[in-house]
Amino acid sequence: MSLKYCQGTSCHQYTTKDRLRGNKGNKTFQTRRRTSFYYGKGNFCSLNCQNDWFNDFGNKAIDHFGRLTEPKHLTEENAWVKDYDYRGGMNDRSFYFVNKITKEQRPLTQEQFNDNNYTLNER
Ligand SMILES: [Zn+2]
Repeated sequence: MSLKYCQGTSCHQYTTKDRLRGNKGNKTFQTRRRTSFYYGKGNFCSLNCQNDWFNDFGNKAIDHFGRLTEPKHLTEENAWVKDYDYRGGMNDRSFYFVNKITKEQRPLTQEQFNDNNYTLNER
């Protein structure tokens, strides 16, 4: 497994023991390096590091990918979400779509429920 670095812009400035690396007389606090991280889609070792990155680059990232300048709307056409009921426990679930606006429900098979591409929403 390959190691990767935390992308936090100030990770090396948090002076924890695990960040202190190097030989005696030549020690430095270093950016954390792991096979995986829990935060920010696996890019950050902590919420602090994720927040540091956002504070430094968030505005640029939002401008790059498109800043909202008007509200988005959840309409009947795209308000379908998958849900399920427990009827008789874990092995007897009933799956359905429910429209968050109209409250209409439509039955789903388990295969359709598990298929992340299956939707009633218009795209
Ligand atoms: Zn970090």
